[in-house]
Amino acid sequence: MSKEITARSQDYSQWYNDLVIKGGLADYSAVRGCMVIKPYGYALWERMQSVLDGKFKETGHQNAYFPLFIPKSFLSKEAAHVEGFAKECAVVTHYRLKNDPNGGGVIVDPEAKLEEELIVRPTSETIIWNTYKTWIQSYRDLPLLINQWANVVRWEMRTRLFLRTAEFLWQEGHTAHATEQEAVAEARLMLDVYADFVENYMALPVVKGTKSPSERFAGAVDTYCIEGLMQDGKALQAGTSHFLGQNFAKAFEVQFLSKENKLDYVWATSWGVSTRMIGALVMAHSDDDGLVMPPRIAPLQVVVVPIYKGDDQKKALDESILPLVKALKDAGISVKYDDSDNARPGWKFAEYELKGVPVRIALGARDLENGVAEVARRDTKVKVSLPLEGLPARIASLLEEIQQNLYNRALTFREEHITRVDDFDTFQKVLDEKGGFVSAHWDGTAETEEKIKELTKATIRCIPLDNPQEEGRCILTGKPSHERVLFARAY
Ligand code: AMP
Repeated sequence: MSKEITARSQDYSQWYNDLVIKGGLADYSAVRGCMVIKPYGYALWERMQSVLDGKFKETGHQNAYFPLFIPKSFLSKEAAHVEGFAKECAVVTHYRLKNDPNGGGVIVDPEAKLEEELIVRPTSETIIWNTYKTWIQSYRDLPLLINQWANVVRWEMRTRLFLRTAEFLWQEGHTAHATEQEAVAEARLMLDVYADFVENYMALPVVKGTKSPSERFAGAVDTYCIEGLMQDGKALQAGTSHFLGQNFAKAFEVQFLSKENKLDYVWATSWGVSTRMIGALVMAHSDDDGLVMPPRIAPLQVVVVPIYKGDDQKKALDESILPLVKALKDAGISVKYDDSDNARPGWKFAEYELKGVPVRIALGARDLENGVAEVARRDTKVKVSLPLEGLPARIASLLEEIQQNLYNRALTFREEHITRVDDFDTFQKVLDEKGGFVSAHWDGTAETEEKIKELTKATIRCIPLDNPQEEGRCILTGKPSHERVLFARAY
């Protein structure tokens, strides 16, 4: 009973929390806004890391590691950056505790006050650009293509498991270039890497776009993003890539001698995806029975459950199952043979369904006689009896079929939930009754954007990259506009 999941139609938000907790991805912790990532959730993060890390390396990046702490003065060097992050910084002021002489237990030692306070990194541009100053002198040192896998802290007021936590895990790329064009190309390239990953591994279609000025990363010239749509019609930013211009190079005095022997400031990008992607994965594909993992990112792709009475039957089953498991492994498929005898098959079925394992193979004595196995796919719940002969190849193609089906399902949903709207009443109605992205004209001002947000809770998710120019009028002010932007309520 404890594993019962709230239905999406009843309470979407509770459904999500149920899946995360009961599906074994994470737990709440003793620290406000911080969560414990459990082994199954961490295995998913490791899958994401391993695929992305490979892609970063293929595109010429190297990993490095920079300190968790940033001197307060560094953060203030780039004006827009500090303004954006100041309100959510955790600050270290002391370096020692002591026993309270008045018997109050352990207290902060007032004598151990840091001369300069340290910020727990909310992002690492400042500490990294302070380092790049010593790494970059000439065009020969460029481009510098570095990535860091790390944790960061942003003191978020309203937190949600994975989607918005005070501490989160992420990767942050920080690159330095000789020209503006090169830096812009890098920011675009990494956006494509993210989009490719999210679409082809997480089976979640995304819209690529730029952020409006008020949604831009603090300190960026341009923020590119990928936006996905969740099953409740809310959008979710799945990744960002920033063109930082020369802002950080100027703040940290990072200049290089060009081929022409001219001194110039370095051009920069930064880009990141976080454990939020796990939340996106859960919300995009799962159902009322539990998680649904796309095979290419699933920590476990196939589970095999034997159904037997007594040792003899078990032995006979092993003779067929062990070679099957080996053949699946040899084909590069992750598989678990769950022959533990402390749970009944029915219980195991429910458990793997909850965990979203893409394919379940069940094999009993009768199946063995007939040379078949029962194969159940998690996405459609369809069960079929398949011959044991040739099963590994069939399972491999089934996994691909499931991957494609999940993507198609999410794509159809997304396409059905992009609505073109030309007046404010319809705009509000679509948001309330249907949700999804609303494609509408906007007059380009921050005031109108803010007003729309106040009235409808919808924000501009992005200005799509492949946007056609189209003359129209702003849905709120009626002022002229040259292109549509995508609005949505978002996580
Ligand atoms: P940013 O540095 O703000 O561009 O964010 C980089 C990535 O981290 C983006 O993909 C964000 O969606 C994600 N992100 C930002 N804030 C949080 C948070 N509080 N919890 C989890 N992920 C976050």
